[in-house]
Amino acid sequence: MNYTVKCSSCDSVASDLLDFRCRVCSHPLNLQLDIDFKTAEIRNKDYSMWRYARFFPYLKEDERITLGEGWTPQAKLSDDVYLKLESLNPTGSFKDRGSAVLISALHELIKKEKGRISEDSSGNAGASMAAYAARAGLEAEIYVPETVSGPKFNQIQFYGAKVVKVSGSRQKVAEEAQKAERGKFYVGHILHPLFRDGIRSLAYEIAEQFEWNPPERVYLPVSAGTLVLGLIGGFEHMAESNVITGMPRIVACQTEQVSPLYHRFKNLPYKPPKRVISVADALVSVNPPLLDIMVAGLRRVKGDALMVREEEILKAWQELGKKGFFVEPSSAVAYAAYKQHVVDEEIRRKEKTCIIMTGMGLKSTLKPTR
Ligand SMILES: [Zn+2]
Repeated sequence: MNYTVKCSSCDSVASDLLDFRCRVCSHPLNLQLDIDFKTAEIRNKDYSMWRYARFFPYLKEDERITLGEGWTPQAKLSDDVYLKLESLNPTGSFKDRGSAVLISALHELIKKEKGRISEDSSGNAGASMAAYAARAGLEAEIYVPETVSGPKFNQIQFYGAKVVKVSGSRQKVAEEAQKAERGKFYVGHILHPLFRDGIRSLAYEIAEQFEWNPPERVYLPVSAGTLVLGLIGGFEHMAESNVITGMPRIVACQTEQVSPLYHRFKNLPYKPPKRVISVADALVSVNPPLLDIMVAGLRRVKGDALMVREEEILKAWQELGKKGFFVEPSSAVAYAAYKQHVVDEEIRRKEKTCIIMTGMGLKSTLKPTR
């Protein structure tokens, strides 16, 4: 085998691709690859994330479920700054990379059991998973917080999924989705290692679009951690395979309200608010189950974490609009953090920077202030 699914804590090996936590100690699972990244093995004529299919060895080509995800544009914002437009994926967010991989890997196994999938999400992952389930001909149940944005709720329903609104914390939503029922297969994007693994493709794309000389800095919003962990995994894979020299500085950007990673990374105490009311409605994980893994990963690659205030997010969001980029407010968190680093003179001139625009503007009903 050229990959292993292993427990992040006790190293037990999971033998079933459907597993989403360790059967011995219940900690999260990680996927480890035992193949090198080789640029010669990229399918150059495939303009989607499947140009890197060779590096997802657990997927069978004839079982692939795709909506054309990946190979998103990288738009120049200013001299050294580029926006990676993940908002242009098929369902309007980066989550499609994870859903495509996860559903491709599992749909036949679930169909064999006449099962349906269950997922919990603040909105974007739910919409994405619903779309790929529809493409695969699978029934989907998506559990969302009561506060889910209207457009995201509509989008999930549009794909034919059953949407269940759950009141209470984000944790409560996850518990409902995980409740065991006959024929229900929990494929929650936060816990399932294959979802996170699909995000590796984003790191490959950034490196390739920078002609294998990746940017010095990558800014991205962080909530539950699938994006940051997928990116770290992809960049580490390329560095270990000697395809790139050196890692970009990965900067995890969070809101003042939802900043458990920032606080833990800086060794500061964090007290989450009773209710999250940020305009960044995709960033709601105040107690993410992957927090320890995120902190370890970010330290390993010498990354950084940053926190921005609500007014900074709104300002950054509207500034992006004035430059022609319509993204959801949660994406503007990364741009706001980048701007903070410029003001603090943390960024030296001539540092190539990539800021990840995670979701599209049509997913929010928020109006600009003027
Ligand atoms: Zn374990």
